[in-house]
Amino acid sequence: MSWPSEDDKRVAHLDGATVSVIPDTGSRAIPFCRDDCRAAGCVPTVCTGATFTSNDEVFERSQLVIPGGVNSSIRAYRSVGGTPRVIARAEGPYVWDVEGRRYIDLVQSYGAVILGHAHPAVTAAVSAAAADGTSFGAPTPREMKLAEAIVERVRSVERVRLMNSGTEATSAAVRLARGFTGRDRIVTFAGNFHGATDALLAAGGSGVATLGLPGTAGVPASAVAQTMVVPYNRVPPLDDSVAAVIVEPVAANMGVVVPMAGFLQGLRDECDRVGALLVFDEVITGFRLDAGGAQAKFDIDADLTTYGKVIGGGLPVGALGGRADIMDSLSPLGPVFHSGTLSGNPLTTAAGLAVLDLLDDDLVMELSARARRVAALLRDACAAAGFPAQFPVAGTLVGTVCGRMAPVYDFDDARTTDTVAYARFFHAMLDAGVMMAPGAYEAMFVGLGHDDDVLDAIGVAAHSAAVGASTASAAAPAEAGSEN
Ligand code: PMP
Repeated sequence: MSWPSEDDKRVAHLDGATVSVIPDTGSRAIPFCRDDCRAAGCVPTVCTGATFTSNDEVFERSQLVIPGGVNSSIRAYRSVGGTPRVIARAEGPYVWDVEGRRYIDLVQSYGAVILGHAHPAVTAAVSAAAADGTSFGAPTPREMKLAEAIVERVRSVERVRLMNSGTEATSAAVRLARGFTGRDRIVTFAGNFHGATDALLAAGGSGVATLGLPGTAGVPASAVAQTMVVPYNRVPPLDDSVAAVIVEPVAANMGVVVPMAGFLQGLRDECDRVGALLVFDEVITGFRLDAGGAQAKFDIDADLTTYGKVIGGGLPVGALGGRADIMDSLSPLGPVFHSGTLSGNPLTTAAGLAVLDLLDDDLVMELSARARRVAALLRDACAAAGFPAQFPVAGTLVGTVCGRMAPVYDFDDARTTDTVAYARFFHAMLDAGVMMAPGAYEAMFVGLGHDDDVLDAIGVAAHSAAVGASTASAAAPAEAGSEN
């Protein structure tokens, strides 16, 4: 499948969809979105700020009203240094910053965008849905269809509750697992990330099991007192105090770390032995590893599964799915409370359906081939420049490990990545017109827009970046762990 042509887009438009129009006031002298900008005809709700401003200006202003100038910590470039590129718009494989500079985007909204930015099928679906109202607080046909689409793809998922973020899904999974089993203990893996859920923000990673240490200020010891953190890729012995084991089936927040043979099956067996629930966090792997997600890829059924990102087509989304008897313990059928004003949102479900409609086995295979090509290009470029780095691939995910050529199996291994070298490579790629995530532990993502020409351009950029990164002076130090 290829990125839609101008004709395809016109057809989508003529079919009744409206696309947002960014007014061009034609002057660089107008301050960005202040009163005189409005007087000149700018509509603040769609104004991107493009041509009026600089990344520095917007970021400085943002920091006056938004902590750190960002709405998700990683975006602040703290671990790579420098000023974040402030994005004005995006299309296909590209993003443009407010200074009008274009970058090939390997972030793709941290994996949320799989068809490429502003894919016409998605924008048409969202525009049409918006015209019919953006939220009702009532059941809708589209939320039913999105839930059906997930149930059809995943053997273990019989019921789905839609939510607004992956974080919401993992916190609901913890509550449901505890409510269903009547047990309190949760087991997580060091280096896995499940969003900003208190019970899952526990510290760990020293290669041994740890219990009850908060991973961040603001999480009381009591919130993680029943959370045990164990090393990834090793099956922990469980007992009957464990409500659930939650795992990223491919770890995508400490580079990209694939499960060793027998690890996921071992977890399944150990959970069954003690009556604990197995929760797969597929917020990233969900429909990126395979059209059926990690469970189809590895042929293992989880009891509960969390989703996000891809199933919302780039709009806010999360979902909790699983076995009917467990899911029916959620309110209103069962005793475990859950609610959400905007859950099952009409725009999100329209976007999600548009994505899943196109995202079949063939497309995932094609995108996986592109991911392998990106990794090969980066690998070759780094090898040629004598810049030690590896780029592990799983499905459509590509990881980066700088300064270590030995394989990575767990968080202790992942933490040996050279974060300073990554920062140098990141900036050299940015200078060469390719945007990677501003953190050494994040994955890279390709989409439909990354065609052969774009991949070739990534290869060219990588060659100059690898040379630059081997010679450039060190950038700001990075901290371990994902925070997207
Ligand atoms: N689970 C995983 C595996 C994730 O990678 C993330 C975020 N990247 C989350 C959960 C949290 O999702 P969200 O950012 O939508 O809250």
